[in-house]
Amino acid sequence: MECVFCEIVAGRVETDKVYESDDVLVIQDLNPVAPVHLLIFPRSHVAKLSAMDEENADLLSHVMLIAKRSAIELGLDKSGYRVVINEGAMGGQTVQHFHAHILGGRQMHWPPG
Ligand code: AMP
Ligand code: ZN
Repeated sequence: MECVFCEIVAGRVETDKVYESDDVLVIQDLNPVAPVHLLIFPRSHVAKLSAMDEENADLLSHVMLIAKRSAIELGLDKSGYRVVINEGAMGGQTVQHFHAHILGGRQMHWPPG
């Protein structure tokens, strides 16, 4: 089965790109659930967080630092924001290519749904 994020990386699926580095892409989520809803994912296909190990430590920290930087650039750092990684079926993961969500621009609640 084709992976939609790999298709985006390959340029075969259009997207609203916010930032890209050699290792990751930051895009607008197609179905935003907050005024700001970005996705960060590695160019290389890794299915999910649990498929990562020590070899991926640099990539994982890069994803988190880019999340922080993207939030600052969007002016979310003063108001606050949320970074989410959904893992597997019970975690609500629907795209099987590791990614982190950045959500902001509205009050977040706990516990999440
Ligand atoms: P998750 O449920 O954590 O796997 O999140 C997957 C996210 O990818 C959802 O928020 C979708 O709206 C988003 N999504 C799916 N396809 C695309 C796409 N082609 N471009 C942008 N976002 C997408
Ligand atoms: Zn993929």
